[in-house]
Amino acid sequence: MKAAVYKGPGPLVLREVADPVPGAGEVLLKVKTCGICHTDVAIVEGNYFPRHTPPLILGHEVAGEVVALGPGVDSVKEGERVIVYQCLTCGQCPRCREGRPNLCAEIKTLGLDIDGAYAGYLKVPARNLIRLPATISFAEGSIITDALSTAFHAVSKLNLAKDEVVAIFGAGVLGLNAIQVAARIYGARVIAIDLEDWKLEMALAKGAWQVLHADKDRDIVPGLRSMAGEIDAAMEFIGNPRTYHQAIASVRRGGRVVLVGASVHPFPLEPLRLFKDEVNVTGSYASLPGEIPYLIDLVESRKLVVKDMVTHTCSLEKINETITMLARRSEKSLRAIVEM
Ligand SMILES: [Zn+2]
Ligand SMILES: [Zn+2]
Repeated sequence: MKAAVYKGPGPLVLREVADPVPGAGEVLLKVKTCGICHTDVAIVEGNYFPRHTPPLILGHEVAGEVVALGPGVDSVKEGERVIVYQCLTCGQCPRCREGRPNLCAEIKTLGLDIDGAYAGYLKVPARNLIRLPATISFAEGSIITDALSTAFHAVSKLNLAKDEVVAIFGAGVLGLNAIQVAARIYGARVIAIDLEDWKLEMALAKGAWQVLHADKDRDIVPGLRSMAGEIDAAMEFIGNPRTYHQAIASVRRGGRVVLVGASVHPFPLEPLRLFKDEVNVTGSYASLPGEIPYLIDLVESRKLVVKDMVTHTCSLEKINETITMLARRSEKSLRAIVEM
């Protein structure tokens, strides 16, 4: 099969590799679409490293069709349309047993720890597959696997009540999905914060109550408070120590904050916010497999719309050009999808 192989920072290398062979409990998928995540862009740019030494096939936002079954698989059939839960987990460790497989001790993420889907075919455990109805395109399915499910899992940690005010920092594809989940599923009033006007317009289209244009040189916390009085909850989708701090500073006493944007840099945290104001700060990683069928139902019934998140599509042969465009931010983009 053809694959785009990561061999270290720099362009992916397109080459022929052997087709994967599904083992016991595994299936072989014909990959139809794979989203290009900003994680992948960072890896190619040398700003982030996969947990497996190269060569490695990247790509974890997968939709496809079952083409072969390994021994012992009877939960799916050849020809079925599916999407893939991106975390391969052991099912045995304490976190898996308590229903938090995204924290599995043995977790392996597609395209980071093991070969992913920038390729013609992918082998995965059958239990990682979720059926995709014919009414949802493969590209939309790829959005559901990560950009929607990760946002949904993060919003669910806030236990939002109707009409509560939630400030969402960053209106990229995950932030926009969090906005539509918070507004349309929980009935919360969302204030979206971003530096780009077109993203704020999209935030309003996704159900945001108000938007705030961030200014790099200004603390936006007073602006947020003047818009809503009290901010009940905040979410950060940027991964910037400054916006982490603003999210935590903006919420009322007893407010809740979820940090989703990835950063490895320490940031200042006022202990008073935690012990005197009882602000609850947590993070959120990926999603739970059980959340994905629910999200498929919401997309199928049009309560959530993800079609408009697909701003670019390309062939596997053009993947490097598309990654370069995403890295340079040379076009307005949310999610670019590779179509096999
Ligand atoms: Zn992703
Ligand atoms: Zn486990």
